[in-house]
Amino acid sequence: MTELRSALVTGGAGFLGTHVCGRLLAEGFEVVCLDNLLTGRRKNFRPYIENPRFTFIEGDVRDALPDRAFDEIWNLACPASPPHYQADPIGTMMINILGMKNVLDLAVKHGGRVFQASTSEIYGDPEVHPQSESYRGAVSTTGPRACYDEGKRAAETLCFDYHRNHGVEIKVVRIFNTYGPHMDPKDGRVVSNFIVSALKGESLQLYGGGTQTRSFCYVDDLINGFFSLMRSDASITGPVNIGNPGEFTIKELAELVLEMTDSKSPLIDKPLPKDDPLQRRPNISLAKEVLNWEPKVPLREGLKKAIAYFATEA
Ligand code: NAD
Ligand code: UDP
Repeated sequence: MTELRSALVTGGAGFLGTHVCGRLLAEGFEVVCLDNLLTGRRKNFRPYIENPRFTFIEGDVRDALPDRAFDEIWNLACPASPPHYQADPIGTMMINILGMKNVLDLAVKHGGRVFQASTSEIYGDPEVHPQSESYRGAVSTTGPRACYDEGKRAAETLCFDYHRNHGVEIKVVRIFNTYGPHMDPKDGRVVSNFIVSALKGESLQLYGGGTQTRSFCYVDDLINGFFSLMRSDASITGPVNIGNPGEFTIKELAELVLEMTDSKSPLIDKPLPKDDPLQRRPNISLAKEVLNWEPKVPLREGLKKAIAYFATEA
């Protein structure tokens, strides 16, 4: 009989964590989901709760983690939407630093491979376009986004120091804007805001007139990239960009959502939030080369599935 493989998923009740838990359970893992439900939702893991291989622990990644061995530790705990991470900026910074340290200390004590959900925000408001992993970024240390950007940068630093000094196996992924089922309709990020508003006939708010760009990845593509990286040879530590290089202005996204939802909602201009990046697009050459990964789902196809999901949620 083969031994049961085990995984700890911090932030497992959130948007991406729900997908990671589901995939691990489907692969036969024992899954412990640790989440303080700051932005995660119980309904996300309700389908898993009857599974004897699934355990939910309501807990904070800044506090003690389960003192036992896991084969894999997936560190996703951190609010990802700007209004959420800016609501408690000191908390956001400390989730990234203390949470990451707790995860890495657990791996030192009991072993286990560590996956860190890092972000394209590492690149800040980039002067280099598209962004490849070698670009060091243009990040404010003092602005309202810094708690998240600098927290994630420090977390990456901790990963690499634990890797060099303690031999911890690390897998660092830089995630670009991702959307799809299991997002909270009230999450506050642009895709959920636009679809929910369009479905309700409410106005879509274009911050800064919507001329800034983002590159949107459908969640199934992203999760395939996560698992390719996590199961790759130990020599591949990352950071690796995972995202869809298709680049759109926020206004183009709004117009596409209106067309696809057949909505008459008005578009209204709002001021651009401070330090909001003006452009973002991943260079995914590294992921193609070392993981043989690239996204398959174009924006229109992914939005169709996301709209169907939000129509039942909103
Ligand atoms: P999310 O907000 O839906 O999920 C985050 C989860 O972490 C939630 O369930 C929340 O309750 C939990 N959490 C927050 N603070 C915690 C704490 N102190 N202790 C335990 N749990 C805590 O966001 P998401 O989109 O699923 O993002 C998951 C991870 O991926 C985050 O680390 C985020 O920074 C990163 N990321 C996501 C994207 C994206 O486009 N979705 C982009 C870049 C990076
Ligand atoms: N945005 C917008 N209207 C909204 C929400 C966001 O115009 O209702 C803009 C936001 O200013 C940013 C882009 O959409 O330029 C993506 O925002 P999101 O919060 O989804 O992600 P991030 O800024 O972290 O990339």
